[in-house]
Amino acid sequence: MERARPLFDRRRLLKGALLAAVPYTLLPETRAGAAPQSGDYPLAEWQPATSSNFTESDRPWSYRVNLVVVHVTQTTYTEALDIFRNPAKQVSAHYVVRSADGHVAQCVREADVAWHAGNWDYNTRSIGIEHEGWVDKPAYFTDALYEESAKLTAGICDKYGIPRDRAHIIGHYEVPGSDHTDPGPSWDWTRYMRMVEAM
Ligand SMILES: [Zn+2]
Repeated sequence: MERARPLFDRRRLLKGALLAAVPYTLLPETRAGAAPQSGDYPLAEWQPATSSNFTESDRPWSYRVNLVVVHVTQTTYTEALDIFRNPAKQVSAHYVVRSADGHVAQCVREADVAWHAGNWDYNTRSIGIEHEGWVDKPAYFTDALYEESAKLTAGICDKYGIPRDRAHIIGHYEVPGSDHTDPGPSWDWTRYMRMVEAM
């Protein structure tokens, strides 16, 4: 044990020297890999979809943004992010809100056209928000999910001058030509709209 101490100390010195060099060599790379800041919503974690699953654009210059489309994933939060990263799926949304804690991931820049509504015209002029859950499992629609989603939608309405009403904050089922039912009958629109208006 006595002989080990000097060795330990020397190793610690070496380690110290290496750590001192870290900020100048590794930090920018580490920062870029850990938490890239490419999103529009400061509270969102950036979890980019593959560029094969949305259309690059420069909204609101290319298209006026005047709708928010509310979705339910019909799968888990994690699986939804995986789907958006998979070029074979040909689908994406701007945001995904996690059920348990309302955590928000952004997958597509608001300037770009996400493929979520199943209707090109509606895609071009909307922001798509997915909510983790299933239309027939109301337990997934937690207080945290409603609150964080309402905060996100209120911010989007402010940014693009979108009225905070049901004509402009719609469900996927209200998109013309859509055969989807989300967010489904368990989604509490009265509560959600009250929260959006109060934010
Ligand atoms: Zn949907």
